[in-house]
Amino acid sequence: MIELTQIEKRFGDAVILKDISLSMAEGSVTALVGPSGGGKSTLLRCINLLEVPTSGSLALGPETLSFTPGQKTPWQSIQRIRRQTGMVFQNFQLFPHQTALQNVMESLVTVLGWQKEKARQHAMELLTKVGMAHKADAWPSTLSGGQQQRVAIARALAPSPRVLLCDEPTSALDPELAAEVVDVLAKLAAEGTTMVMATHDLRLASSIANRVVFLEAGRVVESGTASDIFQQPREERTRRFVASVT
Ligand code: ATP
Ligand code: MG
Repeated sequence: MIELTQIEKRFGDAVILKDISLSMAEGSVTALVGPSGGGKSTLLRCINLLEVPTSGSLALGPETLSFTPGQKTPWQSIQRIRRQTGMVFQNFQLFPHQTALQNVMESLVTVLGWQKEKARQHAMELLTKVGMAHKADAWPSTLSGGQQQRVAIARALAPSPRVLLCDEPTSALDPELAAEVVDVLAKLAAEGTTMVMATHDLRLASSIANRVVFLEAGRVVESGTASDIFQQPREERTRRFVASVT
């Protein structure tokens, strides 16, 4: 369970996220959609605390953190939340000097202190799950974008996070390669992986999200099921956005 309560994020005087309250059930998939600059990436970064909200509170599993303007959030608290999240980026960001397998094992060995053999086994299971076991020893530069993204998903899942955060996981990919990634995400969703993803891909959102949240100018304009938002939006603003991208 993830609970955001009245999250606000400012950069200097600019208010980037305003009064965001959302709760995401365990096993649910939430898609964040909306125009460029609306705050989707910033919201994801506020969940793993790559950005610390200016005010509001965030609960993730057993941890709850409240933010107060001008007050520094303790590093240990940030780490406790961050370790319960895994992140997948638009441009994969695999470690270029490590093989696919080493990428997936890395955090298990260096952060969690697992024995190499145990880490290797777990990493191989994850590579199998994303259909990449046959490329375990390949270098990232020799993999297609879709393959790199599938390795990145395995890497994000390695420490068994409570939530997988994906920022535009398919937007750097050609449609065919994007489809491979969508298949993997759909499989993870069916297995009950909790996910929050920012996406421009309304097909991805419609196919796997239980809930779609339309964000504009840092606010939640409306949220609902994919068919609520894409077929019967209540707000004029949502209607215009959906019409412009479909
Ligand atoms: P896109 O669809 O293009 O990825 P987005 O919805 O993910 O857009 P964000 O990247 O979250 O939008 O950006 C929201 C707003 O916050 C933008 O106006 C952006 O310029 C601003 N912003 C993001 N990060 C910072 C930062 N570190 N400092 C100042 N402003 C920032
Ligand atoms: Mg973004």
